[in-house]
Amino acid sequence: MKLIALLLAAIATSATAAECGADKLNTSRTLVLKREGAAYGTNQHAALPLAQGEVVLTFDDGPSPENTPQVLKALAEQCSKATFFMEGRYLRQSPELARRVVTEGHSAGIHSDTHPHLPTLSHEQQLDDLQRSRAAYKAVFGTETPAYRFPFLEQTPIMLEALKRANITVASIDLAINDWIPEDTTDILAKRLSENLDKAGRGIILMHDANGPTAKALPTLLNVLKDKGYKVVHLEWEKAQ
Ligand SMILES: [Zn+2]
Repeated sequence: MKLIALLLAAIATSATAAECGADKLNTSRTLVLKREGAAYGTNQHAALPLAQGEVVLTFDDGPSPENTPQVLKALAEQCSKATFFMEGRYLRQSPELARRVVTEGHSAGIHSDTHPHLPTLSHEQQLDDLQRSRAAYKAVFGTETPAYRFPFLEQTPIMLEALKRANITVASIDLAINDWIPEDTTDILAKRLSENLDKAGRGIILMHDANGPTAKALPTLLNVLKDKGYKVVHLEWEKAQ
């Protein structure tokens, strides 16, 4: 019996390996960050330790029942792992979908509670939004969020200080595909990704899993990365104490 189980396990492993062969984008390595409240992304902070040609895939504003499943499917088809920055309000609405994202091997952080323009809020309101989003994350995943991405990338001193104190990584970006422009098509998004990759050469890519056109375009966008020879690095964090 034991031998049969081992044989079956070997077959299952080789089947997975065959599916994720050289014809796929794949995930080349995992970069595990410490929980120390560092900040990354050359748009606003230091660069992640990535080599030329290495990219990190990130998706904001979900989880979205309409679009996130399509994003997960496209990533699974290319054996690629990403990081999802989720909003507290959507974590409360779709906890199962949020857990599915992580079960499928991706990592998750938070992206505020209700996506406000933080600089327009009082200190108390900002910290309250952070507190609510951290609580939403903990209720779904059972752990403290390891990372935070500012809504609209609008940082404030009070929030930066609070995140640092809580050992939460601030995740800014290196390049984007500007997929918040509503009329964008797959062709436009693919062209923009290609051009911005040529300029940046590496880094954290910002996309939006809650955005229908992005979900639709993702198979093409992942092919752009593959055809240009980019390698996907998966961001993870040390386990919470
Ligand atoms: Zn956002």
